[in-house]
Amino acid sequence: MNASAQPAPWEKLLDGRFDSKRPGRTLWGLFADQRGRVALAVLLYIIKQSPSSLLPLAVGMIVDALTNGGDGAFRHILAIAGVYFLLLLQNPLVHTTFVRLMSGALRHMQFNLRSALVERLQELSITFYEEKQTSALQTKLLRDVDAIDGLCRHLMHTGLNGLLVITYVTIIALIKQPLLAVYFLVTVPAGVALLKIFDRRFKEQYKAMRVETEQMNIRVGEMLQMLPVTRAHGLEDFETRGVRSVFERIRERGLQVDTLTEFFASSSWFTFMLFQLACLVFSAWLVVHHRITVGDAVMYHTYFGMLIGAVQQFLSVFPALAQGADAVRSLGEVLEAEHIEHNDGKPAATDPLRGEIIFDHVGFSYPRGREVALTNISLHVRAGETIAFVGESGAGKSTLVNLAIGFRQPTAGKILLDGRDLRELDLRTYRRQIGVVPQTTLLFNGSLRENVTYGLDHVTDDTLWQVLADANLATFVRSLPQGLNTPLGESGTMLSGGQRQRLAIARALVRNPRLVILDEATSALDTESERLVQEALVRLTKGRTTLIVAHRFSTIRHAHRIVVLHKGAIVEQGTQDELLARNGQFSRLARLQGVQQLHA
Ligand code: ADP
Ligand code: MG
Repeated sequence: MNASAQPAPWEKLLDGRFDSKRPGRTLWGLFADQRGRVALAVLLYIIKQSPSSLLPLAVGMIVDALTNGGDGAFRHILAIAGVYFLLLLQNPLVHTTFVRLMSGALRHMQFNLRSALVERLQELSITFYEEKQTSALQTKLLRDVDAIDGLCRHLMHTGLNGLLVITYVTIIALIKQPLLAVYFLVTVPAGVALLKIFDRRFKEQYKAMRVETEQMNIRVGEMLQMLPVTRAHGLEDFETRGVRSVFERIRERGLQVDTLTEFFASSSWFTFMLFQLACLVFSAWLVVHHRITVGDAVMYHTYFGMLIGAVQQFLSVFPALAQGADAVRSLGEVLEAEHIEHNDGKPAATDPLRGEIIFDHVGFSYPRGREVALTNISLHVRAGETIAFVGESGAGKSTLVNLAIGFRQPTAGKILLDGRDLRELDLRTYRRQIGVVPQTTLLFNGSLRENVTYGLDHVTDDTLWQVLADANLATFVRSLPQGLNTPLGESGTMLSGGQRQRLAIARALVRNPRLVILDEATSALDTESERLVQEALVRLTKGRTTLIVAHRFSTIRHAHRIVVLHKGAIVEQGTQDELLARNGQFSRLARLQGVQQLHA
């Protein structure tokens, strides 16, 4: 978007730097612009942890001072305590600074990741959304990003601590008693062996758990959406049972995951406790044979306890790691998706558009469609012309208008807009100039004004009222106590079918588009609403190139030309009278839909 300025940090994630096959590297990459902060945080962590890391050393020295006795013993102990006090003193401040740095880096990463996801979701082609459900995508944006955040937090605290203690202990052991260092090092391979045993199972379980959670979100979303239908048909039990079965699967799967995690934890606990017992016996043997002092033995034992704690902590990161890696994979489904609409760098559409569209031998088949949806469509739509597409359900009308919006690319032939191939244009610059009235009006949770002006900044009240008047909505809006500021609620339940359609027309009108694309709602309206919608439509299409998928004969009457589609091909075209005179496909459709409507 902002080609001139420096790219935003999250845009890096969209340039193929997000690699779900290498979760570790990808995670590290998420902190690309935070490395200084992270490094400083790690340094502060080492400093702030020094009191606990050095405690066994201090205790060992004190025990030795006591066992040796002598005059200077107590002064020696005071000196050790003094140094230790200084170490303690730095902790509160350094700890706070560490937390701020760490949290800052994590929050920044979360922000970047979500921004990248949202940006990518806005770039993906419509095909992508047909394969993924909204609630599953929502889960990715919320839960998976949190899972990655959780993993990083875990790594930063537990993982770092584990690593730090292991390093400390190894160094001290090497300096004071190399024999013990070898002994300590046995624990690491043991840890690795444990990981190997559990690795595959963790991966499988976490993936299954995530998929189940996505399913649950989809199912719950569906249930909420279907609520009025469910209640209207008295199907509460049926729905509840359906949703409950999804909950049951989550319960089973959750139990399996918990069992595995705990089994892993207890296996590592058991293994390392055995090690600790052995260490105790070994140190005792060394003391008895005067190889080390009692103080040393105490110190070793405490360090070994710490080491085991650290290895265990380190291992406990592992389930979170598997979960985080899976979250990375899940986000990869969005960030690495291939169905991207490539607009950057393409020339803009002429502004203003003239509005001439040529379908040149256009063919289309859906990636998973069994038959071709459109074959050999050639049609010249002149600027300002209104074309109505009619045909039975499945004839290809919606497919054709979606091609004109650029939602899909023709698989054969081409579409020319003002003489230029649609494929070669920045579709965003084109779509800003078209008004699309979809079959069902989507409303969001905002006021009536916001819903009409959606995405436009400077719409004056005068313009807005004019638009509402043209859409035959002004009288209705005036009758509302809150007028333009009436909240519509998420689904706009307070609006009737006809009002929703007129609102969609107002939304198109306020953009003053050069080209109007309209998929007429199939639901029947009463005569009065029908008249209001028709009047609004006539005003919307006047002087603008218009493609209408028409279901009503009152709409067809206003079209300059009617195009009849049958099984993806144009079978007839002309004015209404011409087509009726031919007594072909159109006449047959007209008869099916009721001739009285036609002559109304
Ligand atoms: P109409 O709008 O005239 O009712 P459509 O354009 O929606 O028809 O559909 C034309 C044909 O393409 C139909 O056979 C339909 O089953 C098929 N079709 C529509 N959408 C898809 C899709 N997303 N995937 C596969 N086939 C599709
Ligand atoms: Mg359709």
